[in-house]
Amino acid sequence: MRIGAHVSTAGGPLKAFERAAAVGAEAIQLFISAPQQWKAPAISAEVVAAFNDARQQAAVPVFFHGVYLINLASQDEALAPRSVDSLASYLDFGARMGVEGTIFHVGSHLGRGMDEACVAQVSRLLKQVLDRSPAESKLILECNAGQGGCIGGTFTELGLLIREAGGDPRLAVCIDTCHAFAMGYDIRTNEGCAAVMAEFERDIGLERLVAVHANDSKQPLGGLRDRHENIGDGHIGLDGFAAVMRHKAFAAVPFLLEVPGLSGAGPDIENVMRLKAIRAGIGLPPA
Ligand SMILES: [Zn+2]
Ligand SMILES: [Zn+2]
Repeated sequence: MRIGAHVSTAGGPLKAFERAAAVGAEAIQLFISAPQQWKAPAISAEVVAAFNDARQQAAVPVFFHGVYLINLASQDEALAPRSVDSLASYLDFGARMGVEGTIFHVGSHLGRGMDEACVAQVSRLLKQVLDRSPAESKLILECNAGQGGCIGGTFTELGLLIREAGGDPRLAVCIDTCHAFAMGYDIRTNEGCAAVMAEFERDIGLERLVAVHANDSKQPLGGLRDRHENIGDGHIGLDGFAAVMRHKAFAAVPFLLEVPGLSGAGPDIENVMRLKAIRAGIGLPPA
């Protein structure tokens, strides 16, 4: 099991590798454009080539995270196609830069409800992204905390969208431990994890689980709010993470930290060490 982290790419995507190494991350997540803007990623052929060299040198799996503005359920005529363009461009760079895939938030129905029309729109747009993207690129839907009409908080919803989109094997899922916990999935014990992952297997299929966002939660179980906490300092706790990491569904799935960090500057060596200590404590091999 790999313990990784989201890292900043201030100064260019190549910076991701040294920052990951500095905190001991064994897997990397990064943005390739400003996450709060629609501006498309612009990475030269030279940087793409250098990135591929650095990635092979580091021998770590890499994931992109899509921009936060994406909303495949948007009823705004401009926003939905922009979301498709943004994802297609991330998937295109993803294939060229040898990354595992692009993790993204599906969006929100903004209160209208996830009705038939909404499901049809989201699945049609997911298909559009895949139709425009190279075959090597995975499109990874992240579960959310169920806040503000967000789509895909439950495994049932994610499974439905994936099936309606045609079930392409490139459609994958990232479980964010904080989001799932805030949504009401009690993953703090072995029994809890067994029940939760049985649901995942039934609704989505374990073969689609390709990444974990490893975040503790400031919110209690079912709090329906997305508030990340440092590992062990939230309501999931160190024992909770041990239960998650012990479950066989996660054995080959990279854990990516998106925690505030002890100094508030994002995932740090301390949080990486906490997960590595749990990994060692339960007898799991290092990456
Ligand atoms: Zn996340
Ligand atoms: Zn979150």
